[in-house]
Order: sequence, then structure tokens, then C-alpha cells
Amino acid sequence: MGVRFSPQLIDEIKSRVNIVEIVGQYVSLRPSGRNYVGLCPFHSEKTPSFTVSPDKQLFHCFGCQTGGDVFAFLMKRTGISFSEAVQQLAQRAGIDLERLVHSPVDAARERRRQQLLEINRLASGFFRQMLHGPAGAAARDYLARRAIQPAMVERYQLGFAPAGDVFARFLAKQGVSPELAVEAGLLLPGRDGRPPYPRFRERLMFPIADQAGRVIGFGGRLLVDRAGAPKYLNSPETPLFSKGRVLYGLHLAREAARKTGVVIVVEGYMDCISLCQHGVPNVVASLGTAFTDMQAQALARVAERVVIAFDADAAGQAAARRTLDILRKAGLRVAVMQLPIGQDPDEFARRHGPEAVARAVAGAVPLVEYKLQQVLPVTGAVSVEAKARAVEAALAVIAEVESAVEQEGYMELVARRLGVSMDTLRVEMARISGNDHAGPARHRMGKIRHNNRGFPGEQGEQTSRGGRAAGGDRLLGAEQVVLRHILAGDSPARVLAELDGPDVWSSPVVAGAVRLLAGRPAGAVQDPAAWLLGLPDTAEANWLREVWAQGALAEVPWQEALHSLKQERIRQRLASLERQLSALEVEGGAGAGMLARLLVEYKRLRSDLFGA
Ligand SMILES: [Zn+2]
Repeated sequence: MGVRFSPQLIDEIKSRVNIVEIVGQYVSLRPSGRNYVGLCPFHSEKTPSFTVSPDKQLFHCFGCQTGGDVFAFLMKRTGISFSEAVQQLAQRAGIDLERLVHSPVDAARERRRQQLLEINRLASGFFRQMLHGPAGAAARDYLARRAIQPAMVERYQLGFAPAGDVFARFLAKQGVSPELAVEAGLLLPGRDGRPPYPRFRERLMFPIADQAGRVIGFGGRLLVDRAGAPKYLNSPETPLFSKGRVLYGLHLAREAARKTGVVIVVEGYMDCISLCQHGVPNVVASLGTAFTDMQAQALARVAERVVIAFDADAAGQAAARRTLDILRKAGLRVAVMQLPIGQDPDEFARRHGPEAVARAVAGAVPLVEYKLQQVLPVTGAVSVEAKARAVEAALAVIAEVESAVEQEGYMELVARRLGVSMDTLRVEMARISGNDHAGPARHRMGKIRHNNRGFPGEQGEQTSRGGRAAGGDRLLGAEQVVLRHILAGDSPARVLAELDGPDVWSSPVVAGAVRLLAGRPAGAVQDPAAWLLGLPDTAEANWLREVWAQGALAEVPWQEALHSLKQERIRQRLASLERQLSALEVEGGAGAGMLARLLVEYKRLRSDLFGA
């Protein structure tokens, strides 16, 4: 819902509900000493290792190590979000959330969200009607060519956006203001004084829904040739829709994913629908190529295992870019479904049918194995140099595995494939993980990453769960990218100067890290790793080492990261102004001058941010 809950409210709710009672609705519990035990709902077991402690108001499973408070239980068991869990439990506890969390500004924002939801609902209905009417013939042809059945058209609520301004006229007739339709991302502002016109024209429409199944945005596939127009177009970022937060089809896949413990992730809308039609209802599509933490967490709430079904090239790239590691970090087991080169999941499903799809899902290889396949040569007859390179690359993959037993198993596999003895591999492994000159940097950084999943600056940041974390994550990401570029010496020094200021950085640790960077000697730019290693063992230096170790982040251009960093600052300032404004509104008459001053700043910042 986008509302923020104070820690006091969370504690209040916890103190008023009984975790034993809530968990007891889903798990049959029996008393055991001070606690209650039962069969774990998160993994399959015959003897109970799932424990609920009424004293601590926590649950824990000794079998699968799942645990947490009553909110965590509901989120994991029913797939709802944190704020939905808060709302459910507040209602149960008889706490009036509306009154507590809705300041005047929040209430206005909530009304706006409801209006935007309503427009999306209207739009979705209109597009569906168009698909089945005379205008939708081309779209129906396209669906027939792709062999999409009516049941899937219904399930995914597919539609058609007609040419011209038919849709704009429809909205006007429904009494929707053009301004609101622009904010919803459905109309584009008209150029040269002309009225706003539809963003989606002559496109097959895929409504994108939230967890509750409400339409929050659209994807559209162009059905005609139009110069300069992209084949696929998504809704822009709106107060409802954020690409990094949603997964296409998740609300439809949830039930089947929970039943099987597996969710299949594809890239495109058509891949998703096609797999569903071919017997895989637990399928979602990632709307971009790189996963976000938020998407990974959404998946972790419905399944333990993720099978990536990208086409061969994309899967390779995703693995190389560590996007799959984001899923792993969310506690998911990741496997890669292997498709014939040049075939996407849709094509594969249509050509080979449901049985082949089921076999491919079942035969998905674990992430580590997949990465090993990428680096090991196909045949045994390779040069000594190629063998040495393959050993090094393979051991780097194996070094990421946490279990020593699994490491040993994978090393045996490599030994067999490359015709190298286990002793040789052990010596090599020891060398790359810390006994020679090149080793320490990697080893040390790996260790930091492992021990310290959150960044040092993150701890003090999350004063409330849910709402606050989102902005924090985005900000941390941008900060890391900017600093990584500065470390690598590929952004000009003036970037640092531009970011100088008391509250530019998210925490004192990051600010300290920036000071370290600003004061580094000239030689540090040539060899950042050596400089970083020479730094003392402080939180600031560790933060920088961690940033350096996250090499893949640097794929985002620094200009882009810098931009989002600044935007986030403005957003935070806006939020703080909104709080001050609503406080003044509550106070009434007093502080009229203050109110005027804040409003001026508020308007200026909003126009900075939205260009309005
Ligand atoms: Zn368990």
C-alpha cells in the first residue's frame, strides 16, 4: 500500500496478537515445554522440527532454518506483503490503521492511488472489449498465429489498444481527466498544444497486476510496422507501477508455485503465457533483464526454488552478470533450464509440447553446475594453457559454494572433465583463495561479503520495515555504483565535488568512505585494489572494499547512478517537507509564513523531480 508503519505500531500489533494462535490457523501445533511444535509448512517432514515460542513471539524450523516473527510467518505462508500482513493483523488486533497512519498528505496520496487503480481497471476492460470487437482482428490473428488459446487470453486478460485517439475519447467519456490519465501512463501529453493522446496504439495489451490481481500497468506489443516504435512498450514508472517491483503473472502463478515449491522465470510476456498453456502454471516473466532484490524477495515468498528459462544467450549473460546471484542471496535455490540454442521458451513449448517442457523444467541444472558448464571445455582434447584457464575459472565458480561437501563434489566433477588430479585442484584452490600475492584481495573481499550481507551503513537506516527499505535500497545501489566508478577512475573528479554536502550520503559510514576516496593518493587510481588492501580495517574502508568486490554494479553508467542518487535526495527532502506541511495543517492558523515558505520549496523540488 506504500504506507509507512512506525516501529511502535508494529510492536503494538505484536503485543496484541498471539503468534501461537495465528500460526495455529495453518499448522497443527501441540505444546512441548514452554513452546509449541508441529510439522513445518515450509518444507516436507515426518517428524516435527517447527517450533513456535509464545514467550519470544517467534517461530523457527530446525529442519529448514526458516524463522521469524508473526509478520514473517504470514508473508511466507500466504505470499502477502509486509504492509498487507500489518493490515491483516492490525484488523485482528482491533487497531484502527486508517486513523493511525493516514496523515492528511497520506490520505490524499491514497485517494490518488485509488483513482489510478480505477483508471487502469477501466483501461483494461476497454482493451479487452477492443480485442474481441471488429478493431481487434489483427490482434486475434496474431494470437492465432502464436497458437494462444482463448483460455489463456481470458486468464491473462489480454486486450488490444486501437489506432488513433479512440482510447482517449473513451476515457473522456468515462469522465477521466486527461491529467490523471497522463499520470497513469496511459496518455502522453500532447505536443504543440494538441490534446493528450494514447501511449499504446495498435498494440496487443498485457495488463500487469499487483499481488491482489489489480491492474497497475501494461505491456504492449506492436502489431504493425511503425518506424522508430519499439516492438514492446511498458507503462512508465507511476505511483502504482515500478518495473523493479513487479513480476508479470505472479498473482496467477502464486498458488501453483506454493504447491510445487518451484517458480519458473521467463523473460517475455509471450514466453510466460505459452509455458502456462503448456502445463506450467507456476511461471512469471521478469519485465527487465536484471533482477532486483525486491523481485527476488517476492519470489522467495512463494517458492524455495527458481528455474530460470531464458533463451540460451540471455541465460548465459544473466549468469555472468550475477543477476542470478541476487536470487540466491534471497535464499532461493536457483537452477537454469537449458533450451536448444536459438529457441526461446515459447518456441520450445510450441514445438515440443507439454511433456518436453515438463522434462526441461525437471532437468534444470543448479546454478553452480550451469556456471561450470560455461567454463569447462566440451571435449577432453584441449591445450595445456586452455586447461589451466578452465581450472582457474571453474575453481572461481566453486569457491562461491558455501558447503565444503558440495565444493568437494564439484571439484571431483572438474577433475574428471579436465583429466586433472584432485591434489592439483586442491593446491590450485588454496592458491586462488589466499596463499599468494594475487589471493588476499579476493579472499578478504569474499569474506566481507559473506559475513556482512547488509552494508555497514544500512543498519541504522531501517527504522521501520517495509516502506523505508525501498528508498534505502535504491539509494544504496546508486551510491555503490557512483563510488565504484570513482574508485575505478572512470568518472571525472568533479563528480565527487558535485556530491559534496552534509546530507548527500545515506549514512556517516558512506560519507566517511567518500572522504577516504577524496583524499587518496594519485597512485590509488592506477591500482585501486592495492590501495584498498592497504587501508586500515575500518567500517569506511570495509564499505569501499565491499563496493569494489561488487564488480558487476559498474555496468550502470555513472551518469545514470548519479542522476538517481540526486533524485532520491530530492524525494527524501520532499517526503520530509510533506511531513512538516501536514503537521502545520494539523496545527491550523499558526505558522502561516512557515507554511508559505515550505510550500514554495515543495513546489520547486517537485518541478525539479517531475519537470512539471
Ligand atoms: Zn522447515
